[in-house]
Amino acid sequence: MINIEANLNRVKNEIAQAAQVSGRKVTDIELIAVTKTHPTEIVREAVDVGQLVFGESKVQEARAKIPLLPSNIRWHLIGHLQKNKIRHALPLFEMIHSVDSLELAQAIDRIAHEDGLHPRILLEVNVAGEGSKFGFKTTTLRAELESLLLLPRLSIEGLMCIPPLAEEAETSRNYFVELRELRDALEQEFQVKLPHLSMGMTNDYSVAVEEGATLVRVGTAIFGERKRRNANL
Ligand SMILES: *Cc1c(COP(=O)(O)O)cnc(C)c1O
Repeated sequence: MINIEANLNRVKNEIAQAAQVSGRKVTDIELIAVTKTHPTEIVREAVDVGQLVFGESKVQEARAKIPLLPSNIRWHLIGHLQKNKIRHALPLFEMIHSVDSLELAQAIDRIAHEDGLHPRILLEVNVAGEGSKFGFKTTTLRAELESLLLLPRLSIEGLMCIPPLAEEAETSRNYFVELRELRDALEQEFQVKLPHLSMGMTNDYSVAVEEGATLVRVGTAIFGERKRRNANL
């Protein structure tokens, strides 16, 4: 039996510890509980012990679950967004972490205009340049940020990354540092504020907090292993 309350407390304690080690305020870090593949009863258990911010990867799954759950939950989209799902996604999520191309950003901007919305988004960066992953390459992002910033409906609030899967949390540290330094450089070059860094998952969220994460996306450490069949959901 998985004890969600105990798991949440453990994760929150580790976040607090990592914040303290790095001289940060724990209130500057939001824990996003990732519920993809898990049924609504599991989400409700977390809600019952005070967790109100959740992440889902797929619009289709979120559309099925969100209406069945309390309306005070705040949902974040953390998985790749297909253009034909944008209109469904916008009213469901308070933030989209996974805006991974200029074309997608433009499409979101257009639909947000049509529907009278002002979505909050993060730009996903492919920090390791992996061919298999979504996200802006660092050089592409520099070249396209001007155009992204001109999209009137989008509130671009920071960067997100998913480093290569690693056994050791320390392996992720360089990528988190890279994302933070890229953010700092872009803020300087473009004279913008990019306050959010969405980084850190079950295996490496403490390291991510030490390196400046403001949003950590944690699933397995709270809800247990996902079924293998759904491992990529
Ligand atoms: C599934 C997922 C997570 C959570 O992963 P865990 O290792 O279970 O904590 C975080 N971020 C993204 C983008 C995901 O798809």
